[in-house]
Amino acid sequence: MEKIKLGISTCLLGENIRYDGGHKLDRFLTDTLGQYVEYVPVCPEVECGLPIPRESMHLEGNPESPRLVTSRTKQDMTERMVGWAKKRVVELEKEGLCGFIFKSDSPSSGMERVRVFNEKGMPVKKGVGMFARIFMEHFPLLPVEDEGRLHDLKLRENFIERIFALKRWRELLGKKESRGNVVDFHTIHKSLILSHSPKHYQAMGKLVARAKELSLRELYRQYQIWLMESLQLKTTPKKNANVLMHMMGYFKEQLSSDEKQELLEVIDHYRAGYIPLVVPITLISHYVRKYNQPYLKQQVYLNPHPLELQLRNHV
Ligand code: SF4
Repeated sequence: MEKIKLGISTCLLGENIRYDGGHKLDRFLTDTLGQYVEYVPVCPEVECGLPIPRESMHLEGNPESPRLVTSRTKQDMTERMVGWAKKRVVELEKEGLCGFIFKSDSPSSGMERVRVFNEKGMPVKKGVGMFARIFMEHFPLLPVEDEGRLHDLKLRENFIERIFALKRWRELLGKKESRGNVVDFHTIHKSLILSHSPKHYQAMGKLVARAKELSLRELYRQYQIWLMESLQLKTTPKKNANVLMHMMGYFKEQLSSDEKQELLEVIDHYRAGYIPLVVPITLISHYVRKYNQPYLKQQVYLNPHPLELQLRNHV
């Protein structure tokens, strides 16, 4: 698989472009995730023409539609930033991004809980950075996160799972459109979708089953929306245990009662939070390989992202 293209706030890559001339290098993003990702850096403040260093800025006014203002001299940068951002998102369409990682807390780049000051100078953490807002409105289905939230292992796993899934979907879009291709894509993603959203699993199954009744355009459009919506919902130990039990059902004939008992115990221990997901997944994968189970062998759920990222090693 070629590298996944992700937009990123430039200062997270270690470039000295912040208002104080510093950076916010994040080693996980550059050294670990960076092995699988090609970053497209975006610094709204510098790209809209502001110097380095520069006066710091903040959001003020209504949290739903705040103004971007310099902190000391109170210059209003809103029009300048909005004008630039609207053009930049159109340019970014050509990049084929599979997601964006924003710098947290920034009045330009923060994706949530950015401080907005009211007329009395009191902050409320309810704002969205000016560029981040325009980006998310322009690309509503793209996975987005900020570097602070990505330190939470569950959020990290969810984000990375989504960008890898979107990359595979984009590769499908690069092929000739056909109903069969969507059916094949769905077949190998079934368990993954089920682990996020049983409701979407049902709906997408029905969609694919009546693929012949739909135009290709409608099939691709609706499938993509539900794919990204479903994966955005978090997996839970209960949902994962349900998928694992479902997979276990494929080995009814092959496993001895002792092996079944052992697998059940491992799934129960995972569900109770004693061991990480990687343990039952490894055991199931072992049986998939041993008995060459054709349906499970192709399930992306067993291998949705590189093992080296250790995304399923937490409890
Ligand atoms: S937070 Fe955003 S605007 Fe500020 S330096 Fe980083 S990329 Fe540039």
